[in-house]
Amino acid sequence: MTQESEPQARSVLVTGGSRGIGRAIAEAFVAQGDRVAVTSRGGGAPAGALDLTCDITDPAQVEAAFAAAEEAHGPVEVLVANAGITKDTLLLRMSEDDWSTVIDTNLTASYRLAKRASKGMLRLRRGRIVFISSVVGLLGNPGQVNYAASKAGLVGMARSIARELGSRSITANVVAPGFVETDMTAELTDEQQAAIKASVPLQRYASPQEVASAVTWLASDGAAYVTGAVVPVDGGLGMGH
Ligand code: NDP
Repeated sequence: MTQESEPQARSVLVTGGSRGIGRAIAEAFVAQGDRVAVTSRGGGAPAGALDLTCDITDPAQVEAAFAAAEEAHGPVEVLVANAGITKDTLLLRMSEDDWSTVIDTNLTASYRLAKRASKGMLRLRRGRIVFISSVVGLLGNPGQVNYAASKAGLVGMARSIARELGSRSITANVVAPGFVETDMTAELTDEQQAAIKASVPLQRYASPQEVASAVTWLASDGAAYVTGAVVPVDGGLGMGH
């Protein structure tokens, strides 16, 4: 077998890869042989990934994280903008700070990450950008005006990037998970969990690995002609949206 026919290990950067969905995404890329850098504020990457401390709301820290990832693995070819937060409360109680903290982390930081990643991708003339949104961005949810707005914003952003950078073989897509087995869902009462599951056609939560498999697919050769798409991993919860 010639060197050229071997699959290339790509430079992958996953934000918020220290736990939850992002960790499962990072593990999936590591398992398929890619060179993976993971960012979080508190640190803690899965085995085989480069652990970078970076608050994505700080432009200088994002620049430093990209520089470190590039030095270790080469230009970032796959960006997974996964890190996200909630600050839930009803609209009338939502402070300016509740609003702007969520928008800054979930939406503005995703713009910053995509802009920085696209520089290397334009030079490579290929790249994959995947934003982790939520079914809530499509359906809305009481108490999540800030979060839903940030997650819906990712769809318009991805589709605009898809149109701007498509001529350079760079794709931009969105994964919209529904309820996922995480610390958050484990804390709900049995009654709350039963009510949630009853509203989901598949009658269960997703595993973080099921979200990860949509992300690795979007980054795969098999998805080379998929861009500007919103891929639901929600058990059918958001069907039709
Ligand atoms: P977790 O809270 O388990 O993990 C969030 C990750 O993001 C952590 O690694 C955290 O690390 C990092 N992070 C948070 N803020 C920042 C920041 N300012 N800078 C850098 N890193 C940051 O989240 P989940 O795994 O549950 O969710 C991951 C994504 O999936 C989010 O975008 C979320 O909105 C979305 N989602 C989740 C669903 C669910 O059911 N869990 C459903 C639908 C969508 P640290 O705190 O150390 O910075």
